[in-house]
Amino acid sequence: MITLNTKEQKYLLDTIRTIADFPKKGIQFRDITTLLNNKEALSFLLNHLQERYKNTKLDFIAGAESRGFIFAAMLCARLNVPFVPIRKPKKLPYKTFSCEYELEYGSDTLEIHQDAFNGISNAKVLLVDDLIATGGTAIASCELIQKAGGQCIESCFLLELKDLKGVEKLSSITSVYSILQI
Ligand code: AMP
Repeated sequence: MITLNTKEQKYLLDTIRTIADFPKKGIQFRDITTLLNNKEALSFLLNHLQERYKNTKLDFIAGAESRGFIFAAMLCARLNVPFVPIRKPKKLPYKTFSCEYELEYGSDTLEIHQDAFNGISNAKVLLVDDLIATGGTAIASCELIQKAGGQCIESCFLLELKDLKGVEKLSSITSVYSILQI
């Protein structure tokens, strides 16, 4: 499977802005809006993802709310694969499966529609999100994909925060591809 070389990684990484102390003190927020509003960088990223996954037999691409939706949906359009949203509680209107996961302080919940995979058994699903930190969101998302009858064949992130070791945890559940690491 193709990956980016160091020069290509640096090019993309330089299009992501870091905002200190957002949304609270001590957090270095990685702001991907500066990649999204850069026409060349966005199409470079999508070309790369399209190349990487064009020969993978995918039934669905799932995106985690909310920034995961952006990349997942754009890749769906490139690959002509249907999209499945994984959402915060009480947003999905039909019957859902839920998964609660731990945050640094407290917990959070994600949901998926019970019929998200349209009755396809063992649907092959690519999970996409903008960033992996502790891995909590991605692990909960993989669990939801399983509950709905799918299998997460890979999870793909634009950015991995290496110190938080989320990829290590997630790797025991599914294959992981992080395009950029900091
Ligand atoms: P985690 O569940 O800890 O892996 O966190 C991943 C989720 O939180 C992703 O959906 C990110 O959008 C968001 N997130 C966590 N840390 C940051 C950060 N430093 N900058 C931007 N988004 C973040």
